[in-house]
Amino acid sequence: MEQKKKVLIVEDEKNIVDILRFNLQRSGYDTIEAYDGEDGLNRAMLENPDLILLDVMLPKMIGFDVCKALREMGNNVPVIILTAREEETDKVLGLEIGADDYITKPFSMRELIARVGANIRRTGMNTPAAAAPASSAMPVAGDLSINTESHQVFRGSKAIDLTAREYELLTFLASHPNRVYNRNELMEQVWNYIYVGDDARTVDVTIRRLREKIEIDPSNPVYILTRRGAGYYFAV
Ligand code: CA
Repeated sequence: MEQKKKVLIVEDEKNIVDILRFNLQRSGYDTIEAYDGEDGLNRAMLENPDLILLDVMLPKMIGFDVCKALREMGNNVPVIILTAREEETDKVLGLEIGADDYITKPFSMRELIARVGANIRRTGMNTPAAAAPASSAMPVAGDLSINTESHQVFRGSKAIDLTAREYELLTFLASHPNRVYNRNELMEQVWNYIYVGDDARTVDVTIRRLREKIEIDPSNPVYILTRRGAGYYFAV
């Protein structure tokens, strides 16, 4: 039997934790909990969850700092930020510091469970870098190559550290070279859910973050290009 996926809930409001735990467990996930940012970071490192639900306003250490610290340590676990309603800056900031997704409170449980499922990768997230030399990676364009078994991306022989979502966005675009996708299509194909409201911003921010990592000059990209008014494409 396949092992249950483990979700770390980092949230200081106990009633929200209770509802999340109940619904996640009912949907077949194991859950662990932390009620402040420091404990959340520790548990993320020690218990290797498959996904983290991360509140922003937390005691001891805010959610953004938790996410930032994880990314700086090279931990690419999928992170969904739980933001309060209408805090647009929270969403953008969250994505910029390496979160994969966000969901606005109050959220519907159905939507939250769907996003958890969409953000958990089915295959080996934590493949150690040493296991996959650049030589076994498949060239995609220029000096950019992808090892689809280890989920690693290289520019030349240098491994590039991507989050799960960035990796999926890159491999999706690269596997359909020169084909232009608009934001709604990318939401559907890469994020696995139908475009709702301001989600399109998620696509733009993730594209920008990806460019900052893979492009030599992110303001003059050569791999992922924009076709004005139409969308994004991987240029070959
Ligand atoms: Ca809170």
